[in-house]
Amino acid sequence: MDACIHRGSHEIGGSCVELRSEGKRLLIDLGLPLEAPGDSALYVPPIAGLDGSDLSLLGLLVSHPHIDHYGLLGHLSPNVPVGMGVAARRIIKAASPFMKDPLPAISEGWDYKPREGFDIGPFRVTPFQVDHSAYDAYSLLVESGGRRLFYSGDFRSLGRKCPLFHKFCADPPSDIHALLLEGTTIGRQEPRVSELMVEKRMAELFSRTPGLVMVHSSMQNIDRVVSVFKACIRRSRILVVDLYGAAILEATGNRNIPQTNWPQMALYVPRWQLSKMRQQPELMERLGKNRISLSQISSNPGRFALMFRPMHMTDLDSGQCLEGAAFVYSMWEGYRKRGDYARVEQWLEKNGVLLHSIHSSGHAGTGDLQKLVSALNPQKVIPIRSFSPERYREAFPSVEMHSDGEWWDV
Ligand SMILES: [Zn+2]
Repeated sequence: MDACIHRGSHEIGGSCVELRSEGKRLLIDLGLPLEAPGDSALYVPPIAGLDGSDLSLLGLLVSHPHIDHYGLLGHLSPNVPVGMGVAARRIIKAASPFMKDPLPAISEGWDYKPREGFDIGPFRVTPFQVDHSAYDAYSLLVESGGRRLFYSGDFRSLGRKCPLFHKFCADPPSDIHALLLEGTTIGRQEPRVSELMVEKRMAELFSRTPGLVMVHSSMQNIDRVVSVFKACIRRSRILVVDLYGAAILEATGNRNIPQTNWPQMALYVPRWQLSKMRQQPELMERLGKNRISLSQISSNPGRFALMFRPMHMTDLDSGQCLEGAAFVYSMWEGYRKRGDYARVEQWLEKNGVLLHSIHSSGHAGTGDLQKLVSALNPQKVIPIRSFSPERYREAFPSVEMHSDGEWWDV
């Protein structure tokens, strides 16, 4: 078996790996780069058969439902089967109608079950569920021709599913020849904060805030939504999400994940989503039981916490519900430093609302990456999804660097 990183050997985002064995090929992830101005077609890697014309391409395996791992799916023929977690597939489908460029239907293919292997031509694939800021995320073991490659995908150890990391390290697959290891945090100085600490800090802020609390996070970071919800429970607030948020929570298919029909949850449909609401009346029927209006929020803003998105600003302005409010920025700080976030910060300043940063990374720190490497004991470690691949040698043994587009033996 040989392998080629099409994108990711020197960057974060847009990951794509191609594997080749006995004349057949398999893809792992087909992501859109984080910075991808213009038409997404510009970023499609040069892989034969994405249009379904080459039968040697057996399929695509998506590690988890983050755009930088699946965002180019729209450029894959529906004739090419796609594997992913069952809930991940539902989440991508639920999110699609709310995207600027909705995805075409995703091909069926393989549904992952943790540690249950399946065959695709000469490849045997075994998914391992991981703790990550995307729901239903996996590492993937691919075996072929007596060689074993382990693709870490994105993972961490400080989330709500942290036992997955420790269980994996206690019982890892053996005889790994090549480990493709994500290194998002390598070379970054970031505090290591757990998801439980996020919940605690949110609860503290909710206590000392007399007005509305707005939390800006990805609605697809289900761990984070649970943390906000638990902080709400501790401080007797109602968690308000919009229609997109309600659809994503429903798509998890997990009865333990907060849903808009729960007593301490509510649905608010902002003006810009009214057309989506009309297009999907069945969604409202299922999820709209606790729908509230802006005037209900403004009549007692201290009763609520809102999962914020910049598109809510116009509604919130007109609702006059920001007196005594607080704002929580709950994503990677790098996004905030991009120019386009200034408009949110100016809006907060104009309304006299303070911004608080409370976040836990979706990615393992160096210590946990080392624990994983030590548990797997691979013959070689290959950097992927890192801006600092040259620094892997400081942290791990047997590092072998490969550039984008280069083929190498597993
Ligand atoms: Zn991810």
